[in-house]
Amino acid sequence: MAHPKLRIATCSLAGCFGCHMSFLDVDEALADLIEHIEFDRSPLTDIKHCSEHVDIGLIEGGVCNRENVEVLREFRARCTLLVAVGACAMYGGVPALRNGIPVAELVHEAYLGADLLNPQVPCDPELPPLLKNVLPLHEVVAIDVTLAGCPPPAAAFRELIVAQLEHRAATLPREARHFD
Ligand code: SF4
Repeated sequence: MAHPKLRIATCSLAGCFGCHMSFLDVDEALADLIEHIEFDRSPLTDIKHCSEHVDIGLIEGGVCNRENVEVLREFRARCTLLVAVGACAMYGGVPALRNGIPVAELVHEAYLGADLLNPQVPCDPELPPLLKNVLPLHEVVAIDVTLAGCPPPAAAFRELIVAQLEHRAATLPREARHFD
């Protein structure tokens, strides 16, 4: 019987998609991996919710609003290995620079600034409310593994996946744990 493929889900919360782009930088190695993996919920598939069982959940970005919290909890509930990918997921990153500034002040500055044409605050009921602070993932759910970097290098993603396929812990050299 063929070995089942590793199911991988990915998402970007308060992130810039740079981590996803780095993942895609695996390039031709992805052709080798694709025989052994399949994508579940991800911007790469446009699947909106995780399947009941996902092997690896890769999440970039910090947690900035209520929808992010719900998405993160879904990943935690359905992913065996949940990975905080990159500085924003690990520490809040650039989006967390807003922490310490009251949300009302932020919204005023962003949408009612003096030089804007027809300034107005977006009020669509589907827009998720902002959290007081942008949080790293581990302040909302338990995280199993972190991939450091902004973004982590493609080699780190590849090693993480290959290690899972080989049922061993990933070994990341220092070059794959840097932040520049
Ligand atoms: Fe973008 Fe860097 Fe944050 Fe990844 S860690 S989402 S590349 S800012």
